[in-house]
Amino acid sequence: MINYMEEDPIQLAKDTEICKNCINVVVGKGNLNADIMFVGEAPGRNEDEQGEPFVGAAGKNLDKLLESVKLSMEDVYIANILKCRPPENRDPLPDEIRAHTPWLLKQIKDINPKIVCSLGNYATKFLMALGNVDKMKDQPGITNVHGKVQHIKISGIKIKLIPLFHPAAIIYNRSLSSEWEKDMEIVKGEISQINLF
Ligand code: URA
Repeated sequence: MINYMEEDPIQLAKDTEICKNCINVVVGKGNLNADIMFVGEAPGRNEDEQGEPFVGAAGKNLDKLLESVKLSMEDVYIANILKCRPPENRDPLPDEIRAHTPWLLKQIKDINPKIVCSLGNYATKFLMALGNVDKMKDQPGITNVHGKVQHIKISGIKIKLIPLFHPAAIIYNRSLSSEWEKDMEIVKGEISQINLF
């Protein structure tokens, strides 16, 4: 039985089948000293090919989001729950989440952000479960918590978690656009508060 917290987090993820079969391990992009972090689900085809998170269609929406709140890649760090693309973009399996998230927790600890925006259900449930994969199923879904700031402590640091719809969901469900815009106002408000420090 693997003790996930005692293994080297990077090797643990790299040892999974999805990492052995992907083109690139997608670690993250942006500023390692950023105050704001965005956490998505897993690389898709474009991300796997290019080795960077959010470079495909969902990434274009994320770029617009960042523009709307006047953030550049210098201000943020972007990473995913899984560092490798699951075949055919299927949902991540609990054991894959278990094996990949110690790396994400290390990233959060190293970057030490003040705000984390979770993108979609998996990232939101993982962070609201404070990194406990077995508790993810007990967390509320994104439809209930999007735009509601949560004060949490994870990887030993206090952060404001702002759950957001996944930028890909906005592409498939245009009716979410107005909710997404309202949530952007929440993000803007929280960012303006950290700028006062
Ligand atoms: N969707 C994600 O959740 N992450 C990516 O990097 C790309 C698409």
